[in-house]
This record gives sequence, C-alpha cells and structure tokens, in this order.
Amino acid sequence: MATVNTWQLQASSRFAEIGLPSPKTDARELLKFVLGLSDTALFLSSDREVSEDQAARLLALIDARAARIPLQHLLGEVEWGGVRLKSDGRALIPRPETEWLLQLALEALRGRVNPRVLDVGTGTGALALGLKVARPDAAVTATDISAEALALAQENAALNGLDVQFMQADLLQGLAGPFDLIVSNPPYLPDADQHSADPEVRYDPHLALYAGADGLSVARPLLVQARAALVAGGVLLLELDPRNAPTLAAEARSLGAVAEVLPDLAGRERFVRASWPTR
Ligand code: GLN
Repeated sequence: MATVNTWQLQASSRFAEIGLPSPKTDARELLKFVLGLSDTALFLSSDREVSEDQAARLLALIDARAARIPLQHLLGEVEWGGVRLKSDGRALIPRPETEWLLQLALEALRGRVNPRVLDVGTGTGALALGLKVARPDAAVTATDISAEALALAQENAALNGLDVQFMQADLLQGLAGPFDLIVSNPPYLPDADQHSADPEVRYDPHLALYAGADGLSVARPLLVQARAALVAGGVLLLELDPRNAPTLAAEARSLGAVAEVLPDLAGRERFVRASWPTR
C-alpha cells in the first residue's frame, strides 16, 4: 500500500517525463478528485494510505491523463468565472483567458440597469452563466450552432440555478435584440493551426476552434450582424487571436465603430471592443 504522498510524487514525475505542461497540478487534482479532498486536506493527508479501490481508480485516471485526455474531462467539471461548469467533448473547455473577457463584459455593463445581453457561441455556457451570476438583473440570451453544446450549457444553467435563455442559432440568426452587450468567444484559430495543436485540443470540438485561413470566418459576419443588433452605444466584445484581433478592429472601424484591441493578462492582443455611438 502506498501513501498519498507517494502516489502524488509518482504521478507527477510520470507526467513530467512525458512532457505534460503542468505535471504537479495534474497529479494533485487527480488525487484530490479520487480521495474527495480539498487542497489543504490533501496536504494534511500526505502520509495516509490509499485504499485498493482508490488506487485502481487513480491508476486509470493517471493512465488517461498520460494519454493526453484533458484534465477537465477527467474531473468532469471546472470552476470558471464564479460558476461550476460540467465539461466534456460536447463543447470547448472554458479557458482562463476568457475569464478576462468576462471581466471586460462586466465592465461594459457598469451603469446599465437590467441590460440585455447576448452570448454568441456559448459552448458550456461559460460567459452567459458567469454574466448572469454576477449580474442577476441582466436578461441573458445565449446561442450556439451546436445542439450538443446547448444541451451541455442548459445542464450547466440548471447546475448553477441560473436563468438564461438558450437558442440554437447560427450567430445572431432569428434574434431580434436590441442588446446592450454582445459578447463572444468565437472559433478564431487559423485552420492551419490544427496541425500544431496540443494533443488535448483534439478533445475540443473542431467547430469551436477553427475559422478559415485567417481565423476570422466566424468573427467577420458576427461583427456585421452585431452592429445591427446593438442599441446605440451598445458594446460588442470579442475574444480573438493576437494574429487577427488588430485586423478585426480595423474592419470594425471601417464599419463606423469606435474599436480598440485590448490585451489579455499576458499582454497579448486578445480582445476587441467595438461600439457604434449612433445607429
Ligand atoms: N463561449 C464558450 C467559451 O468561451 C465557447 C467558445 C467556443 O466554443 N469557441 O468557453
């Protein structure tokens, strides 16, 4: 029988050997999950012996992670933007940089009472639910083209007891608006990136990631449709790729918007904010 500490060290060194980016975190999260312990409790239990049952479950999960199945899918959920989100192959795993988009969205809503908000391509429901939990007065609508993703988003709304209106739609098709804020983390990677993606990224839906040769084949029509669906002074906020965010901001300006590129926490040109002062 091996102790918690031994398991943790062994898992972590196995993950490090095969080049996983966060071997220690992955080992710790899997141990916490199987043993049902918090960070602190895990630390305090390091000399405890792992039962045979737990050992079998751990081994299966460590093998799966070593086979590059994403940690979030193994744990089945993520903490994101103040909500708990089930995460599986039906939608993109919510990313940390998108939490910053949520912050920008909340900033854009400051001073607006009972705002009408739209999340385009909601995936797990991350942005829509993060917005609703922080701004219960907002009327939040969320769309996705994928029925599977919407089913997951609805499960996540129920899990968090949040009231968001979900609709299956291609971008803003069939939506009347007008909205005070339209937020989206659309697919934005150039198609060629699929050849260099990390193995974990294969578990995200292709549809959620790639958008043509320049990565703007979804954001571009979204920009045009959003313009017609915003109130005067309403805001469009997009997450993009640092290689194409400046291009989209320039295109927004050529459509009469006041637009700027905003950096993420690592200083990369990641977000575009566009607003049309008059309609
Ligand atoms: N809006 C979801 C998220 O940010 C899904 C994004 C996507 O699938 N491109 O996590």
